[in-house]
Amino acid sequence: MAGAGAPHRPPGAPGAAEAEDACGWRCPEHSDRVAELFCRRCGRCVCALCPLLGAHRGHPVGLAREEAARVQKLTQHYLRQLATKKQQQVGNRNQIEDAAEKLQAHAESSKIWLAGKFTELRLLLDEEEALAKKFIDKNTQLTLQAYREQIKSCEDQIDVLNRLSDRVCSISQESDPVQLLQT
Ligand SMILES: [Zn+2]
Ligand SMILES: [Zn+2]
Repeated sequence: MAGAGAPHRPPGAPGAAEAEDACGWRCPEHSDRVAELFCRRCGRCVCALCPLLGAHRGHPVGLAREEAARVQKLTQHYLRQLATKKQQQVGNRNQIEDAAEKLQAHAESSKIWLAGKFTELRLLLDEEEALAKKFIDKNTQLTLQAYREQIKSCEDQIDVLNRLSDRVCSISQESDPVQLLQT
């Protein structure tokens, strides 16, 4: 809409001569007149004759200078809105960046904490393992000692039985009845 003008300037038109006018262009239809009005329907700058007699007869028109001021105001308004939106997005981005940094730091400290806890647990487990092995060794030694004593007692019994059986054997070999009965 704001593109009023530029293509409408006839080649070689004296632009500086109409410098006091907001538009400053010649009417494309009436080249001897300044295009001081703006046709809202066509979005073109036209002269005062156009809405009365020309191609823009009956079209709604406004002063080009006022129309330009309105567009300027609108543009400023949009610029401010864009700046506000940009500010908001910058704020959002900063917040998210902060959150990301905090998350990273939190993850790191969690890992350090976990490493400490697991080191502690491993030390405790190593201690438990050593104690359990010691317990097994001690009980094994005690039981082996008991076994050795039982083996010794069995061997003693075997010795006794051997001696007895030798004796009985020698008696049984006695052929003399008197000797046999008196041993
Ligand atoms: Zn005109
Ligand atoms: Zn028009």
